[in-house]
Amino acid sequence: MSDTIFDKIIRGEIPADFVYEDADMVAFRDLHPQAPVHVLFVPRKPIATLNDLSAEDTALVGKLVLAAAAYARREGFAEAGYRTVFNCNHDGGQTVFHIHLHLLGGAPLRGGFA
Ligand code: AMP
Repeated sequence: MSDTIFDKIIRGEIPADFVYEDADMVAFRDLHPQAPVHVLFVPRKPIATLNDLSAEDTALVGKLVLAAAAYARREGFAEAGYRTVFNCNHDGGQTVFHIHLHLLGGAPLRGGFA
């Protein structure tokens, strides 16, 4: 079984700055923010990469996206805009192997993907 730093955060073994949680996920501020708002939406279910998703995870992934959009609305920057990103494996820049949706916003973001 995977045991990443995000599993430890979910279990409460190491601290994080939580902004949201429910039965399916937790959301906390990224330790090294790349934008004024940088929050990670992390399912409680340990799934290593997007490549490990199966059809049974369809609703779970949708819930991560909806939670990120709802957070942007609550925080007042939904209309201005934001970026959501899932990194996958080495070329995608993934460093923590427990899937997570990055939500970046709070200012105009640079274009490009790298
Ligand atoms: P990725 O590179 O897509 O796997 O994203 C992993 C993200 O987790 C990076 O943006 C890190 O800054 C962030 N991160 C790593 N450790 C922590 C932590 N303990 N608390 C919050 N964010 C973290």
